[in-house]
Amino acid sequence: MTNVIESGESMRENLMKYLYLIALAFFILGFVNIIFGILGFVCMLLPFVFLVKDGKKTWCIKYCPRANLFTVLFRERSIIGKTPIWFTKGKAKWIMITYFTLNLIIMFMSTLMVFKGNIAPIEQVRFFMFFGLPLEMPQLLQLGQMADWAVHFAYRLYSMMFTTTILGLVLGLLFLPRTWCTICPINTISDIALSDSRNRFSSQTKTEPVKT
Ligand code: SF4
Repeated sequence: MTNVIESGESMRENLMKYLYLIALAFFILGFVNIIFGILGFVCMLLPFVFLVKDGKKTWCIKYCPRANLFTVLFRERSIIGKTPIWFTKGKAKWIMITYFTLNLIIMFMSTLMVFKGNIAPIEQVRFFMFFGLPLEMPQLLQLGQMADWAVHFAYRLYSMMFTTTILGLVLGLLFLPRTWCTICPINTISDIALSDSRNRFSSQTKTEPVKT
């Protein structure tokens, strides 16, 4: 029985070495059909599912495909080999979370406007929301007529994942493989949620007398 558990564990660890393939597959799928970009939403939600379930950052610690990609590419290869303090303790993560929040608001509002027929969908991958890439996604697989709002939403999600991944790659190359994680909005929100629940727990244990 112990052997079965151990071999299951080692198989899981081996599989986890290849999580980066999921990140690569996501970006390749965008070339197949942009509608797969909506899967980026799953990637945004899963960390919080684990956070609620486990009360810790299980996704970040174990399963994040992008973090795995940065580690595989830059382990012991980063140029500087140290993350600047303004990433770990400075304003960088608050700047990033402001960008992330704005991006989400614009993404949902513009999708709603496309849904209502007020604006045309933006069928273009953009870097940092505003800079369109001079690249037309080939769309190798036609999946029939997609609603304009779904195509717009998929492009916006794909663009967000693309932007943050490029940023993560540059930071990984310069500093340390997972420097991006220090300013990743998922990490910042998870930290806020965890410290909030710890504070609530400690104030409860202070105010509630221990029954003996
Ligand atoms: S901080 Fe962001 S990039 Fe890093 S492991 Fe967590 S979700 Fe992935």
